[in-house]
Amino acid sequence: MSHQQDRSRPSGSGTALSEAYDTALLDLDGVVYAGGEAIGHAVESLTEARAGGMRLAYVTNNALRTPDAVAEHLTELGVPAGPSDVITSAQAVARLAAGQLPSGARVLLIGGEGLRVALRERGLVPVESADDDPAAVVQGYGGPDMTWGRFAEASYAIRRGLPWFASNTDLTIPGARGIAPGNGAAVEVVRIATGAEPQVAGKPLPPMHRETVLRTGAKRPIVVGDRLDTDIEGAFNGGVESLLVLTGVTDGAQLLAAPPQHRPTYVDRDLRGLLTGQPEVTPAGEAYRCGGWTASVRGDELVLAGGSDGEGDALDGLRALCAAAWTLAGAGVCELRTGKALAGLGL
Ligand SMILES: [Mg+2]
Repeated sequence: MSHQQDRSRPSGSGTALSEAYDTALLDLDGVVYAGGEAIGHAVESLTEARAGGMRLAYVTNNALRTPDAVAEHLTELGVPAGPSDVITSAQAVARLAAGQLPSGARVLLIGGEGLRVALRERGLVPVESADDDPAAVVQGYGGPDMTWGRFAEASYAIRRGLPWFASNTDLTIPGARGIAPGNGAAVEVVRIATGAEPQVAGKPLPPMHRETVLRTGAKRPIVVGDRLDTDIEGAFNGGVESLLVLTGVTDGAQLLAAPPQHRPTYVDRDLRGLLTGQPEVTPAGEAYRCGGWTASVRGDELVLAGGSDGEGDALDGLRALCAAAWTLAGAGVCELRTGKALAGLGL
């Protein structure tokens, strides 16, 4: 693993990211779609990146849907994809479990169709009851119809000493009506009942990144995501560069306060960022410049000067602020006040 890249400011790129990298490892929710609908500029940007020769792969922590179902959804939205373009945490946890169990072993399935298909693909036999003689418990998001009785089965089996695997531990799932409990919340239920700890596969952990690289054959991938503690940290753990887009859960204040493992290589507004180069952020004395903006520290506050009209410019202001905040924070977390500087950007 290499963590060689500069973590004190966003990087520049003289060429479009879609040319500088061979494969985009794209998160889905908050990047390609939100609440089932395509995010603005996603469809056109992905179409153009692919036409230019970039391989697109979709990497999701959601273990409920099969790659076929995800690919169908993407194709409906106007982003043609096949099942082999989709990598799920269900696939990653199935490989993780299969590596530790005899071939053809029975596993207690606590989850949905995506996990069932992934376990079978690795030669494991999903069973429904702790009394069906399973060799392990595998838990993934089961959707809104999963009953409390499933957690009871998991608890019985784990308390008998069986190994326990979880696809991912995202505590929440954003949906059209709000925030719902995710697989991480369900894992907490079983953890409380058993006192055991699962082995976890999903982002930001290495099994998911390994699954992605194995399935895509990417030589020079870039991770594209909206979440610092899964997408960006997953890229960091895998020694891969990353692009944060601001179409999902992360806002400017969170980005400025990111510890080193949560700092992306690049930041852009949306997936149009794949099609362009990225501006350099340059030191200017104690300050940092990007585009028409200069960011510096005054007392306990980050301040921003300059700027002009136009969308791209506000991003340059944020990039300059990142450099000032991250440089000052070093290996820690920036605790300066950032509200006024960010308000001026209108992002
Ligand atoms: Mg996301």
